[in-house]
Amino acid sequence: SANIIDGKQIAENVRNNVASAVEKRKAEGLRVPGLAVVLVGNDPASEVYVRNKKMDCEKAGFRSFSYDLKADTTQEQLLKLVDELNEKPEVDGILVQLPLPEHLDANLILERIKPHKDVDGFHPYNLGRLAQRLPALRPCTPKGIITLLESTGEKIRGMNATIVGASNIVGRPMAMELLLAGCTVTVTHRFTQDLPGTLANADIVVVAVGKPGLVKGEWIKEGAIVIDVGINRLENGKLVGDVDYDIAAERAGWITPVPGGVGPMTRAALLENTLQAAENHDISLNQG
Ligand code: NAD
Repeated sequence: SANIIDGKQIAENVRNNVASAVEKRKAEGLRVPGLAVVLVGNDPASEVYVRNKKMDCEKAGFRSFSYDLKADTTQEQLLKLVDELNEKPEVDGILVQLPLPEHLDANLILERIKPHKDVDGFHPYNLGRLAQRLPALRPCTPKGIITLLESTGEKIRGMNATIVGASNIVGRPMAMELLLAGCTVTVTHRFTQDLPGTLANADIVVVAVGKPGLVKGEWIKEGAIVIDVGINRLENGKLVGDVDYDIAAERAGWITPVPGGVGPMTRAALLENTLQAAENHDISLNQG
């Protein structure tokens, strides 16, 4: 049966490294990194995510700046706030929590964030850099997954990797990350005709769809590394991923649990990105 990839533990190591780097910055007389978190409206899941991100910042020794805006905030008001945060020297990273209310154009708002403060890595500049094999700030979930894959000690270069789901925030940037890591990448999505067929050949499987039980355990190749990004709350209150865990765990070489796998690593990757943004920010301040 599979080795468990302990996302919680690996994320804790990452957070400790970030916290030490912050201590070192302080000792050198440098600013601590600052993250601005913008929440529009009161989506309960988003409120939890935002609260966790602020807590992570405090524990890492960052400053966090909160902007909790009303659900009827206008596009102009939000763009104005982004413009202000872009200019604030103590803000290294700007995160606008998604999803935004329907009347707001998320793409327009994300593009307004200065790329070097785009710690979610969703700006076309940062995604374009990743596509050109010149990553700058990298989307947090795929970046965290690369850290999880590295933690296994397996040599992933040359492996066949199949990604299930092709969203802008997970599947697509994941494909770029795995290409960069030297995998042969297959991306599947809602129109894919033979999902079990592609998985039969996959040494690495990354699933990010949001449908419990979508990937059957029997479809997993013996010894494969299985990364389950899905987060689904069942009627009985239980939190599960998209992969049939029990059977998959009998066949896989490595597998991430849900919860305790990808989720904590995504949060840790955000801290890494904010630290990276602060480090680059110092350089640009010195050059300016
Ligand atoms: P999304 O809805 O934006 O994208 C879903 C993707 O799945 C689409 O590309 C779609 O084509 C594909 N899909 C739908 N049905 C399919 C099928 N039958 N077979 C193959 N592909 C199919 O979702 P998202 O934002 O990428 O999130 C996916 C899941 O991951 C959700 O459960 C979300 O909560 C979770 N998530 C977790 C983290 C984390 O940190 N753990 C981060 C982001 C998202």
